[in-house]
This record gives sequence, C-alpha cells and structure tokens, in this order.
Amino acid sequence: MSKQLIFTGARVIDPARNIDQVMDIGVKDGVFADPAELKDAEIIDLSGYVLAPGFIDIHVHLRQPGKTGAETIHTGTKAAAAGGFTAVVAMPNTSPCADNPGTIQLIRDCAAREGVVKVLPCGAMSKNLAGEEMAGIGGLKSAGVVALSDDGKCIQNHELMRHVVEYSRTFSLPILDHCEDKILASGGVMHEGYWSVFLGMKGMSPAAEEIMVARDAIFARMSDWKIHIQHVSCKGAIETVRNARKDGIKISAEATPHHIALTDVEIKKFDTNYKMNPPLRSEEDRIALIEALKDGTVTVIATDHAPHTETDKTVEFDYAPFGIIGLETAVNVCMTELYHKGHLTLPQLISKFTEGPADVLGLPMGTLENGRAADITILAPDEKGVVDSSKFFSKSRNTPFNGYEYTGCAAATIVDGKCVFSRIDALSAE
Ligand SMILES: [Zn+2]
Repeated sequence: MSKQLIFTGARVIDPARNIDQVMDIGVKDGVFADPAELKDAEIIDLSGYVLAPGFIDIHVHLRQPGKTGAETIHTGTKAAAAGGFTAVVAMPNTSPCADNPGTIQLIRDCAAREGVVKVLPCGAMSKNLAGEEMAGIGGLKSAGVVALSDDGKCIQNHELMRHVVEYSRTFSLPILDHCEDKILASGGVMHEGYWSVFLGMKGMSPAAEEIMVARDAIFARMSDWKIHIQHVSCKGAIETVRNARKDGIKISAEATPHHIALTDVEIKKFDTNYKMNPPLRSEEDRIALIEALKDGTVTVIATDHAPHTETDKTVEFDYAPFGIIGLETAVNVCMTELYHKGHLTLPQLISKFTEGPADVLGLPMGTLENGRAADITILAPDEKGVVDSSKFFSKSRNTPFNGYEYTGCAAATIVDGKCVFSRIDALSAE
C-alpha cells in the first residue's frame, strides 16, 4: 500500500467524537491526516462498509511465553486481526509470569517481531499471581505495561489489594481485576442456580463475584483511582458498579460476548467449551448485563480470549480448565446479539470496543482523530455467515460458537495504516 490513502464512501463512526456520517478518511505515513491535504493518495472505495477506530480487546491471553501449544503471540494476534482488533492487552498469567520487567521485555520483543496487531502488555499485581506479595510495579511501568492484573486469580488479602491500588495510582496504571472470593467459589464448575442443582454439579455462587466487586468499589473510592472490573457477569455485581459510578467512583466494567449471548442452560450439553470463569450465568443475569451495556454502566466489551489445547479441554467437565477463545467471534456475536436485536445502536456498540477500552487504559487510542496512529476496523454490518472454527487463525478451537449464525462481522483490519487482514476486494492485506 502507498504511504497516502483516502478511504471513501464508508459510513464513518467515531463515538469518541460523536461522528456518524459518510465522509473521507485520510492516512499519511501510518497516521490519520486531513484528506484534503493528500495529493498523491490511493483512493479506496468502501461504500457499504462501516469504518471505525481500531477495536481494542482489553482482555486477551496470548499464552506466550510458556504455553505456546495453545497460542503464541503470532497466532493470537493473527486471530485478533481476523476478528477486527487492532490492539490487544495481554494478560500476565504466562509462564514465567509477567510480574517482572524481563518477561515484559520478552513479550514486547516477540510482539515487535511476530505480532500482527499491537500487543499492550499487562503486568501482574502480585508476584507470580500468588496474592501474597506485591510485584515490582515501578519496574513494570518502566518496562512498558499499560495496566496491572492478577487475572485468573484474585488477590484475597484486602490489605495487599489496598496497597496495590495505592501504588497503581502512583504509577498511573489502571487495575483490571478478576473479582472472585476463592472460598465462596471453591470447587465450583458452573453457575450456582437451577441448572447446577438439576445437573448435580458444584455451583459457584454469584456472591463470590459480588463481594469482590464491592471491595474494589471501596478501594477505588478511598484511593480515588481506576479499577476496571473484568468480565462482570451477575446482576448484583452490575448493580454495585452502577451505584459506584453514580457516586463518581472511578470504576468501570467489561462484558464478554459469551455472557451476553449464552446462559447456564448450555451446561446440560456437558461440553467443556461452555466452561469458563466467571461461569455462564442465569437468563436474569444475562438480561441485566445487556441493560448495563445499554445504560452505560458497562463501557467495554472484552473477549477474555483463553486458548486451551484440545487435549486439555477433552476431559470430564469437572476436570477441564476454565476458558474459551473469543477473538474471532466477538464482533460477529455482538453485532448479532446487541445491534441486530436492537439493544445497541452501531455507534453505541462500536464505543464498547474503542472509546470504552481507550478510556480505561488512559491511552490516546480508539478515535480517528488526525495525528493519531491510523488503526482502523472496517465492518460489514449486514453480512451473514456461519462461524467455522476449523478456519480460525488461533491455535486453539475451544469455542462454544462453532456453527453460530451471525449477521455482521469485521471485514478488514488496518494497523498504523497497514492492512493486516482483509476480506474486501478493494483492500488487500500486506
Ligand atoms: Zn478472569
């Protein structure tokens, strides 16, 4: 692709700047530029498509270093590009754990070499995610982390958590917290409710999530600092976030596509591709989550892309690891469930993938403003199709959405002005 581009004919939606109209978008040397000033630009006609700021997935497990049988930085970012994401935040539960500058550097070097989209590393809050001792947060910040998280684990020691929140504020790093009281959730494999009783399986009480969300709201208030609740899934926790936000507390939350689309009734299939943590909840919780996306309580959609090998997942339900992949189905599922079912407008939906995550991270991303890096997601809002997991770029296949019939998907992904994925004739991937 030439160094100057003008995208023409597309419906441009940039929620951060309240733009929703057909207009030209210019790119020069990898950044957005005024199209009127580009004299030698290649013109690319995107009539019929929607052009949006590059989608950011704030919750992704790339598994490298350590668990490269399930995913690598290369395959994970290829999957991200195919799903319409231009940037992913990489969770620190790698092996070794990303609780030190050396591992962060390793991830950044590998991402620079093999990454297809931007990889934003997230550092651990506690050493080895053990929840016992704080990680060296200053060193992690210098090494380039964009946030802190113990995802997969949750710091149970409130005193330690309080110090982590205070330090994270000092270093201007948002906290992304997986909220789970370990004792309350102990031994559970699915949501505690009608279906866990019916199926005779150990349930995880929503109270395990609610208690930690309430704790985080208290610490966010006391420290006046940003805590982002990962994969919020139950009605009570959503209500806590809603009330805290009303009080001006710096708390935010994300919803996953699977909690938006599915409920615990699926567990009767005993398919481990429906096993994740937090678990699929009740229909009442699912409706509350959609309501929270509508009223702005939940500002982010994130996948919690968690690849596991076929060998690891092909075991009895009780023994299977938690987690499913999501990068290559998130946009399809959310366009279908939220936009086409009339819950969110397209600008509202796009905001959850752009402005929302950019605000949590406090980074200059998620908008098409001139001078910013030219990260673009192009959507085909009415394209119909069926998810075929055998065609995924991810190394793993643990998805509950194989065979899912969708309307709306990502059509092309552009990072720093360079097309990294495309299914559009007028635009070819480099
Ligand atoms: Zn988690």
